[in-house]
Amino acid sequence: MKVRAAVAYQSQPSFLIEELEMSDPGPENILVRLVGCGLCHTDVKAREDTMGVPMPAVLGHEGAGIVESVGERVTKVKPGDHVVLTGDSCGACPTCLAGNPAYCDLMTPLNLTDGRAGEPGSFHKGGVAIHGHFFGQSSFANYAVTRERNTIPVRKDAPLEILGVLGCGVQTGAGAIMNSLHPPAGSSIAIFGAGPVGLSAVMGAVVCGCSVIIAVDVLESRLAMARQLGATHTVLARRQAKTADEIQQIVPGGVGYAFDTTGRADSNQQALESLAAKGCFGFCAVPAEAPKMSRVMIRGLSIRGIVQGDSVPDSFIPRLVELHMDGRFPFDKLVAKYPFEKINQAIGDQAAGNVVKPVFTFAF
Ligand SMILES: [Zn+2]
Ligand SMILES: [Zn+2]
Repeated sequence: MKVRAAVAYQSQPSFLIEELEMSDPGPENILVRLVGCGLCHTDVKAREDTMGVPMPAVLGHEGAGIVESVGERVTKVKPGDHVVLTGDSCGACPTCLAGNPAYCDLMTPLNLTDGRAGEPGSFHKGGVAIHGHFFGQSSFANYAVTRERNTIPVRKDAPLEILGVLGCGVQTGAGAIMNSLHPPAGSSIAIFGAGPVGLSAVMGAVVCGCSVIIAVDVLESRLAMARQLGATHTVLARRQAKTADEIQQIVPGGVGYAFDTTGRADSNQQALESLAAKGCFGFCAVPAEAPKMSRVMIRGLSIRGIVQGDSVPDSFIPRLVELHMDGRFPFDKLVAKYPFEKINQAIGDQAAGNVVKPVFTFAF
């Protein structure tokens, strides 16, 4: 069958919308008609430096859509079901079996490097393989081929067009707070970086009942959004400024929890210095250099690296949908919708700080 996709070529500075041929999805897979797909930083990074993804490739890993058809061995979903797509995991390695699919031993091949050229449901154009199955989905296309492992059924009265963002960026931020750090009600937390992941963390901290939620960012517009989503305080980060001192003024002695989404060494350092004794620091992006460790020992701090918010997608994504439908998780406020054809414009708008989280909608 034919699909319309945004193809990343290493030689091209932007995505090209092209018509591709897709082979039969096969007995193990699910064919999903995309309704919406979020843009995540990893899509942009993979196009710029491949991250090991074989090129050319169809990227996109925050898809949501409707099951079109299923292979004969698929039992989890049926045609017509509404589904959110998320990263793939094997389900059989010791890490998956222990309930930690975000750290699957096959994470890199399944989500990035495999490409799965020639396998069921793969793309080609004029006989040339176009790699797919990025994060088990390649959802910058009007159809995606997925597996039961990374296809999550959701209730049909939820706004399907925007639900795809729950499958990566939003679960990464909200999950880091709700699953990984799980601060108790009444505790204090500082969240560094108020992009889509940091703002999702703010909403997660609200769900957890934190009484002090401090958002830190370099953009006042994003801090305003953080306040709208439940941050009790905001700190404008400036070059050379000690944001930790401002946080210590808000919470004398320091906050109990800090979460960094920026991947910047200076931000990591300020996060550690903003913590009270025995505080816990979580991070979901790797800085070029490690922060100084002396304070970690002297103040008895803990450090947690966190992937995908420790999400078990089959339970966590429907939980986020429930919270949203109850009005307790307003992630729709982050979203700016674009027709799929405007993908390159959306990337520019996000880079310029004009929008927080682009979501592409499919009209064909
Ligand atoms: Zn992502
Ligand atoms: Zn695994």
